[in-house]
Amino acid sequence: MAISRTSLLRQSAAASLSSLNPFSMSSFTLSLRPKCRFSLSASLSTQGSTSSSVEPTSLKTSHRWKPMCLYYTQGKCTKMDDPIHLESFNHDCSRELRLSAAEFKKLRSQQLDYFLVLDLEGKVEILEFPVLMVDARNMQVVDLFHRFVRPSAMSEQRLNEYIEGKYGKIGVDRVWHDTAISFNEVIQQFEAWMAQHHLWRKELNERLNRAAFVTCGNWDLKTKVPQQCKVSRMKLPSYFTEWINLKDVYLNFYQRRATGMLTMMKELQIPLLGSHHLGIDDTKNIARMLQHMLTDGALLQITARRNLDSPENVEFLYKNRI
Ligand SMILES: [Zn+2]
Repeated sequence: MAISRTSLLRQSAAASLSSLNPFSMSSFTLSLRPKCRFSLSASLSTQGSTSSSVEPTSLKTSHRWKPMCLYYTQGKCTKMDDPIHLESFNHDCSRELRLSAAEFKKLRSQQLDYFLVLDLEGKVEILEFPVLMVDARNMQVVDLFHRFVRPSAMSEQRLNEYIEGKYGKIGVDRVWHDTAISFNEVIQQFEAWMAQHHLWRKELNERLNRAAFVTCGNWDLKTKVPQQCKVSRMKLPSYFTEWINLKDVYLNFYQRRATGMLTMMKELQIPLLGSHHLGIDDTKNIARMLQHMLTDGALLQITARRNLDSPENVEFLYKNRI
């Protein structure tokens, strides 16, 4: 079903939003009041065999999948008292990542207390920084940190084209423009968030405290963060110097090589939910794979580490790696 953005923008507040099924369109933006816009994205993932309309087993009895309120994830939702808004957008991502007790049977005791699932977006500069904090003992989501990031070394025109190309097609360019802040500000807020959860202490300039980043591939922390730090004229923070590449864990645990996130999800029979390449949705999908591997009995250990004294070198800790 094709619905033009213009026609949706014309919808008045009286429009019955509950009749709009997010699965029936690839993306749309709607405006409830002239100055209060919400972007809604719901990807159908029309290519490939994965379908976002299929719910995982653990969700069958819960509510239908809803797109996240991307203002809420960044602490900026002003519509928490609006039932129509709450009906249309998800404001609690822990619910869809909740597991049943039966899924804990093979769960091993882990050396880490928390996993910080991270999946950056943005090839030229980082555009989105989402982190899901998962408790290693019960695999539940403890908290979420999510920010859209405004590039610092890009002309206004190039930036607008970049955002239109990247987020316009999934209908979240408006919320990106409304909320994006500089990488330096994101890092300051992220450090405050980590300190609040006792994951890291600024004064000690050390690695994470019994926690590790979990990424799908090495690109996020091996390549992109150091690049962005250079562009943003920032020293590489010490907590970014080690991580767990889920692809390496997958290879060593299942003895199967999965090149990409979608292949891995397909092989684990986990349906892709949300918009692939919207960082927050990808992060949740990676968290689902993490939960699946933990449920199967995998032990998650650091797979790559930089020397704090010579951070340009990365040491890979698994012999078999992707
Ligand atoms: Zn909201």
